[in-house]
Amino acid sequence: MNVKNCKKCGKMFNYIAGPPICPACREAIEAKFQGVKEYVREHRAATMQQIVRDCDVEQRQVEQWVREERLVFSDESPIKLFCETCGAPIITGRYCDKCKKGQADTFSAAGQRPEASKPAPGRHDSGAKMYTFKK
Ligand SMILES: [Zn+2]
Ligand SMILES: [Zn+2]
Repeated sequence: MNVKNCKKCGKMFNYIAGPPICPACREAIEAKFQGVKEYVREHRAATMQQIVRDCDVEQRQVEQWVREERLVFSDESPIKLFCETCGAPIITGRYCDKCKKGQADTFSAAGQRPEASKPAPGRHDSGAKMYTFKK
């Protein structure tokens, strides 16, 4: 068993995957996320400073949710995000749709087949999968 110290509270916990954060803190972050999501929906023109202050959340945390495409800002929002590749304005994530598509094209051009067309012979699913969190 892999035991780590929680990055947030310092408590020891059984580490499985992802960021080194204990289940209690993970839950607290999740609750915060719901609060921020609600706040952004109600205050469509809120600035990052307002969100950080009113929701008592770290800006870095908000930015992480945005990169994960969990948090989406409205057109009215003063918070502007830009594609990391071409600089086009975007509402969530890190890249614009065009660049996302371009990246996919690059992958297929490099000879990598898209998943799920034909399973490669001898490929095992067990163990190779990333651990994902399920509710
Ligand atoms: Zn913790
Ligand atoms: Zn782009």
